[in-house]
Amino acid sequence: MTTDTQKETLGFQTEVKQLLHLMIHSLYSNKEIFLRELISNASDAVDKLRFEALSNSALFESDTELAIRVNFDSAANTLSITDNGIGMSRQEVIDNLGTIAKSGTAQFLHNLTGDQKKDANMIGQFGVGFYSGFIVADKVTVKTRRAGETEGVCWESSGEGDFTIEPVELESRGTSITLHLKPDCTEFADGFRLRSIISKYSDHIAVPVIMQKDKLPAEGDADTNNDDEIEEEAVNSATALWTRPRAELKNEEYQEFYKHVSHDFEDALSWSHNKVEGKLEYTSLLYVPSRAPFDLWNREVPRGLKLYVQRVFIMDEAEQFLPLYLRFIKGVVDSNDLSLNISREILQKDPAIDTMRGALTKRVLDMLSKMASKKPEDYAKFWKEFGQVLKEGPAEDYANKEKIAKLLRFASTQQDSEEQSVALESYVERIAEGQDKIYYIAGDNYTAAKSSPHLEIFRKKGIEVLVLFDRIDEWLMQQLMEFDGKQLVSVAKGALNLGDLDSEDEKKDQDKVAEEYKDLVERVQEVLKEQVDQVRITHRLTDSPACLVAGEADMGAQMRRVLESAGQQVPDSKPIFEMNPEHPLVQKLAEESDMDRFNDLISVLFDQANLAEGGSLKDPAAYVLRLNKLLLELSN
Ligand code: ADP
Repeated sequence: MTTDTQKETLGFQTEVKQLLHLMIHSLYSNKEIFLRELISNASDAVDKLRFEALSNSALFESDTELAIRVNFDSAANTLSITDNGIGMSRQEVIDNLGTIAKSGTAQFLHNLTGDQKKDANMIGQFGVGFYSGFIVADKVTVKTRRAGETEGVCWESSGEGDFTIEPVELESRGTSITLHLKPDCTEFADGFRLRSIISKYSDHIAVPVIMQKDKLPAEGDADTNNDDEIEEEAVNSATALWTRPRAELKNEEYQEFYKHVSHDFEDALSWSHNKVEGKLEYTSLLYVPSRAPFDLWNREVPRGLKLYVQRVFIMDEAEQFLPLYLRFIKGVVDSNDLSLNISREILQKDPAIDTMRGALTKRVLDMLSKMASKKPEDYAKFWKEFGQVLKEGPAEDYANKEKIAKLLRFASTQQDSEEQSVALESYVERIAEGQDKIYYIAGDNYTAAKSSPHLEIFRKKGIEVLVLFDRIDEWLMQQLMEFDGKQLVSVAKGALNLGDLDSEDEKKDQDKVAEEYKDLVERVQEVLKEQVDQVRITHRLTDSPACLVAGEADMGAQMRRVLESAGQQVPDSKPIFEMNPEHPLVQKLAEESDMDRFNDLISVLFDQANLAEGGSLKDPAAYVLRLNKLLLELSN
């Protein structure tokens, strides 16, 4: 095999260029994190080697002491991070160090606003890991040889538009990254500084991070035999963090470990660390991130926990351990029972995994309810980022429906903002005597929902109504059906029945009025027979003359629009047209003898009712024509 000078220059993918630019500008105040990122990658590489060697021990070659070495040369102003992990082949180097595989990155970067561009945390979304070397270096050299392969690769770049790549002879497997430090970054070619960064960020790394011992003054020691021998020492504690007892661990250690497993730059919002003993033995450390990744809604993106078996890393993104609606959780699970050569396929079938999945799901839900009760401000943050995903829960995880329902938060007529902060439990606590239902209104957005005419009577009577405006909400209500024995009822569906909330006198009055307006109802029915299923008198309105209501079993208007906009066929159903007998327009209508005018008025009221609940008109021009005709008559 020849390894001569086939040096090639290749260009970075556009996204990498953008990201590098952004990163260097947004992370300058927190430069030191580059070391955490590079050590984190080196540790992953060692984990991968250990895993691949389970089925092919030859990969160890003659070098079985797995370690990460950090060396510096203050004279040359360089720093290197070297691991004897899995290494990379030429193609892997090109793919991993020249592109960003995450789909949607270009779009996301493009959409960042000026303010966000300054925000270091936005950068964290990409696992900028390796590229962070360019925060402190004006040239980065990577020498790597994949375990088991004979030829090594040298990659070099100054982090501008391109990189070079050429074959090299490398005796040891693994990766060595040399940073040629920028003139203002000499501080990182200093043993004391490096040690303190490593113990701050990388203490939890399970692989030893080794540095040369600082040479102490010889103190008159005449023994010079060891002068040439370089003494080394591990500068981290090198035990897997999750194996250590909870009481021993500091919050900062949990947070640093979080950054390692999640590739997030921000702190986690909360975590739960547990050791389970008994029939199945495993340890789990689960984290709730504080920010949703930009690709949370891309279902193709693999996600899941890091799986270890008896402390040996087995796989990333083991998605079998948590349901999809908890896909935002990061962390590790380390099992004592699974086989070391377990595969994704076997994971899917193993009944032990189902048991663990049930228990881990419960852990997450418990952690969230604890956060909701003990740290409501954190929970509000969580809800803002992940609430919509959690709303998928009741449908996906029927067994935990009640638990999830307690975690849901909604906007409500009790408050003036669209902040979703009302729990079903607090709604029930406030419920008026005689009210046996939980009422909600769904609309395309907060303003539309909250100004719906359907809310008029509820406002008048001071009955709280949940205001729903997420696309998933109406569907969610159908999954939940009830909470705490109280049916969840849309105020825009079916006949209004306030049960005991209406007094006997009110009910008698309503019957009487219905009788009085029987004629009018029949006449209106005749005009609207093509458009509506039924016409009736209502008491749900106080200010509007009329509204549309869906049948009890029909799909709500919001859900209908959501499905239609997604191109789905929705069964046709006609609404019920309800009129407010207290409204002067309706009263006038009852006396109108001119059939043309009567028809026009009814059609206008019908179209208005449709508009008021966010619908669109089939024939808007006809509506405008009729309305103008009526306005003209008014001014004559
Ligand atoms: P991330 O670690 O989030 O995947 P990075 O940009 O840090 O992103 O690294 C990209 C990829 O490059 C890694 O996923 C890994 O496959 C490879 N890589 C980085 N550093 C090393 C290393 N020291 N040894 C082997 N592979 C590495």
